[in-house]
Amino acid sequence: MNFEYAAAPESRSVVKIDPEYGHFINGKWINGSSHFNSINPATEEVLSRIALGTAADVDAAVKAARNAFDKSWSKLSGRERGKYLFRIARIMQERAREFAVLETLDNGKPIRESRDVDVPLSAAHFFYHAGWADKLEYAGVDTTTTPHGVVGQIIPWNFPLLMLAWKVAPALATGNTVVLKPAETTSLTALLFAQVCQQAGLPDGVVNIVTGDGSTGSAITSHPGIDKIAFTGSTEVGKLIARAVAPTNKSLTLELGGKGANIVFGDAAIDETVEGIVNGIFFNQGHVCCAGSRLILQESIADEVLEKLKRRMEKIRVGDPLDKNTDLGAINSGEQLAKIQELTAAGDAEGAGRWSPNCTLPDKGFWFAPTIFTGVTQAHRIAREEIFGPVLSVLTFRTPAEAIEKANNTPFGLSAGIWSEKGSNILWASQHLRAGVIWANTFNKFDPASPFGGYKESGWGREGGRHGLSAYLKGSAK
Ligand code: NDP
Repeated sequence: MNFEYAAAPESRSVVKIDPEYGHFINGKWINGSSHFNSINPATEEVLSRIALGTAADVDAAVKAARNAFDKSWSKLSGRERGKYLFRIARIMQERAREFAVLETLDNGKPIRESRDVDVPLSAAHFFYHAGWADKLEYAGVDTTTTPHGVVGQIIPWNFPLLMLAWKVAPALATGNTVVLKPAETTSLTALLFAQVCQQAGLPDGVVNIVTGDGSTGSAITSHPGIDKIAFTGSTEVGKLIARAVAPTNKSLTLELGGKGANIVFGDAAIDETVEGIVNGIFFNQGHVCCAGSRLILQESIADEVLEKLKRRMEKIRVGDPLDKNTDLGAINSGEQLAKIQELTAAGDAEGAGRWSPNCTLPDKGFWFAPTIFTGVTQAHRIAREEIFGPVLSVLTFRTPAEAIEKANNTPFGLSAGIWSEKGSNILWASQHLRAGVIWANTFNKFDPASPFGGYKESGWGREGGRHGLSAYLKGSAK
């Protein structure tokens, strides 16, 4: 028997979006010289006009951050810094619904995820780092070191508020000041966060937000007044930034792409595994750097897993991201949709078998049905390149050694999953996998206390946990 879900849309009345925004520099709103549209990817409705940051805007923000670092923030005790972070965390919780609805409107992700994952985890990052601010000597970091000073932070569009929290919270806890640029398609929650900084009474210039495009990001990475760059985004732009920063004294952390292997051994609990596979690739429309985008199945159970996976995928509800029943929302932009279409067409052309459940996609906006490709080999582009969409490439293996070889045969090394009932299997496989984060019998679990980062082309450095703190202190590499 099939149950029909009645529509359960979240009200957007809690959110007030201005028709136009400027930059947040030195605690004030500064008009932009030109603007671009920010649209709702689920409807293509223009939500607001966002300022395009110039080199002069970035320069003003860096000067404000330097002034704040020298005159106020670096002079505060850890205990005082912690009070501000606690205050920010509490305000984020108080305004959680507003943040969640705004994130869903701007990004296209389901309200269920922005409400239950992005916003609570963002507040949790501020709480966690607030706790460390006056206890750095117990964090295993070298406390004779000092903060870098002014940190330039560039973030992507897949988790706009959460990536801001991952970057701003540890920077402030360790005594740095910040110039942050959100992604072009998702600036609105960063601008709401600027209001939270005002509400928390954060000293002027400690957090500066300059909106814009790649040229604004480039003005940040090349600015001589910035001491450290923290970047999350594509490997391609990460390489450009590494080149720009190499001849300077700037410190650099990069959190880049991935092509996570989700390995299922023959003894795995299949029903739970199927849920984990779905969460691994279809969470946030697959716009997840650590997504389990390569499913590596032991041959003995491959048919059973695929049959159950298809049955489960038929139940995935695609549509209005504001509807509380929706599982899979809109693709973040027309550009990203074109990239997914191009890579999946390459999958067809190279001979992999495509399957999607029957689902009706909305007429307006950017949409892609949940999709799996079977018969994928290591040579296929869909096995090697980051698709960053709701598309799963399925490969098979006979021996554990073959599973590991396939999993590690990638330029990336961000995440992996292992599904097995045997602890010995899990320990053996996790010792042989070359990935920064490995989940066992679960996937896509995040915690501010847990360091996150990759090997190889997935980046340098760790974010979160004690290891993430040391990245914001000079020469502290413990
Ligand atoms: P980018 O790497 O281009 O964007 C990440 C951030 O960097 C954005 O704020 C972007 O600004 C900014 N940026 C762009 N060019 C420069 C530059 N030259 N110097 C400094 N900053 C810059 O990712 P895209 O949004 O273009 O996505 C492209 C692909 O990258 C996706 O299809 C996906 O495969 C992958 N990706 C991976 C992510 C991850 O976490 N692993 C996150 C996002 C994307 P703006 O948005 O204004 O261009």
